[in-house]
Amino acid sequence: MGKCFICSKIDPYVSSELGLCSNCIRERPQEVLKISERVHQISRRKYGLPDAPPRTEGGVVCNGCPNRCKMGEGERGYCGLRKNSGGNILPDPRLGKLSFYHDPLPTNCVADWVCPGGTGRGYPVYAYKKGPETGYKNLAIFFHTCSFNCLFCQNWSFKEDMRYGKPFSPEELLYLVDESTSCVCFFGGDPGSQMPFAIEFSKLAIKHRRGRLLRICFETNGFMEEELLDSAFELSIESGGCVKFDLKAWNEDLHRALTGQSNRVTLRNFARLTKKIELRPEPPPLVASTLLVAGYVDEREVEGIARFIADLNPDIPYALLAFYPHFYMADLPLTKRDTALRCQEVALKAGLKNVRIGNVHLLR
Ligand SMILES: [Zn+2]
Repeated sequence: MGKCFICSKIDPYVSSELGLCSNCIRERPQEVLKISERVHQISRRKYGLPDAPPRTEGGVVCNGCPNRCKMGEGERGYCGLRKNSGGNILPDPRLGKLSFYHDPLPTNCVADWVCPGGTGRGYPVYAYKKGPETGYKNLAIFFHTCSFNCLFCQNWSFKEDMRYGKPFSPEELLYLVDESTSCVCFFGGDPGSQMPFAIEFSKLAIKHRRGRLLRICFETNGFMEEELLDSAFELSIESGGCVKFDLKAWNEDLHRALTGQSNRVTLRNFARLTKKIELRPEPPPLVASTLLVAGYVDEREVEGIARFIADLNPDIPYALLAFYPHFYMADLPLTKRDTALRCQEVALKAGLKNVRIGNVHLLR
């Protein structure tokens, strides 16, 4: 239960940490964004992260992600990983700060209802089995950095993990791609700020598997450098994997209030990839999802996103995900079943052909 600083509404669907209702965010962005920026600062300082991408005069520019941090000597980038050390950006971008684990297939993946590992789509070229790929496993690579600062982050523990342990080289982790690993998924945090590692690891892993199946997938906020995104998508297309874009909100002010960043780069990147779907339309190489953050991401957001996707390509699968209250939005309720169903209806009406509700067990 929170209170909106602008309209004084007290409601279970207002996050107490954010202190802003979704109506005020949409209608009074100038007042609202000053407040939300402060909340983002507080949530970042707690983990030693800079308030905003640094723009230090005479600093070294990191080209790792579209934040393009310009860091003075000793200063850290927005991701919290890269640092200017004597004029060099360290750690080396080809190293990955991450954790990893294997998950037996079929696993709880955003694309599991359309991907080869979950359904057998693409068999026999891209899948070992005609149905769910039981007996095989996914290698999950969880990056400890993110280029956004979502107050509802569902995986926020990476902010703790990033303080401990050393980065890995791609070669060091190749042993993880064993006989029964049939897909790799890069997520986090977000892969967007550690793409050189992800791309190099993928290339080496495909070589290492010597012609056996190994699908390469990315789950991302889509905030990436174009060239790196293109390389990632090519790897997914060639290997039978997919790139999963999490489109967090349609209204740019709402997106800023919730994630600390604009959605423009993400939307532009998503549109960019749709042009390459025809290179391998089946199984679907590009999948979209939206987390239904209770009280904030509702039918209005889903309608805008669904229209945008449908105009580009109505065959793109779209998953609406039930939200679990976490991080700075831990006091919000779960997503209502009714809301999820209305969002699905709106997305279908907007012209999309394949819309599913994910994490159904979290609906109330
Ligand atoms: Zn309000």
